[in-house]
Amino acid sequence: MEKKEKHLYWHESSIGVKDRWEMYGYKSCALWFTGLSASGKSTLANALCKQFHEMGIRSYVLDGDNIRHGLNKNLGFSPEDRKENIRRIGEVSKLFVDAGLIVMTAFISPYREDRDNVRKLLEKEEFIEIFINCPVSECEKRDPKGIYKKARSGEIKEFTGVSAPYETPESPEIILETDKMTVEQCVDALLNYLMTSGYIKNSEK
Ligand code: ADP
Repeated sequence: MEKKEKHLYWHESSIGVKDRWEMYGYKSCALWFTGLSASGKSTLANALCKQFHEMGIRSYVLDGDNIRHGLNKNLGFSPEDRKENIRRIGEVSKLFVDAGLIVMTAFISPYREDRDNVRKLLEKEEFIEIFINCPVSECEKRDPKGIYKKARSGEIKEFTGVSAPYETPESPEIILETDKMTVEQCVDALLNYLMTSGYIKNSEK
């Protein structure tokens, strides 16, 4: 069968991402939060988003559960579906970055290969992997949605950290130990990284 892509052509945009960076005064990128459920990905992404808003930086949070309600509602939690889930988020993130936003993704994204594929999809400086490092015992204690309890009882199958694997990032740009740091300390560490690496300006904090 003839491949569909054969008749598709890439349309070059008249305005590139660098033109947008210049106009907005900061560099867009994907902040890829990865870690166990309840480690703090959503909390930190949303807290940082609020900071960005106050600083006049355009940003957006793609959140695991929300995306599964819409774009990815046809996907489950098998390894293949998790892979496709992350692939789509990666493609959406790429569009956001190209549009000049700082996009924050809050997905467990347990497989190293899937995260590395997103890394490859984006330009080197556009992908920042943030490992939200929190022991499963602490996540289970927090259990804000009561899902660890359901995973332990077997009501939820293939649950990361309990009955499905989590592959720890090998060389993430940032590691945050949320069992040792407060939300505020984590947000400060993220802002500092972005400032010292030249994504956002110092004066904007
Ligand atoms: P995830 O998105 O990784 O599933 P959530 O952000 O939904 O996790 O939940 C994390 C829970 O941990 C929240 O109840 C939050 O208040 C709490 N928490 C405690 N300390 C931290 C911290 N340093 N960073 C992020 N969350 C924290």
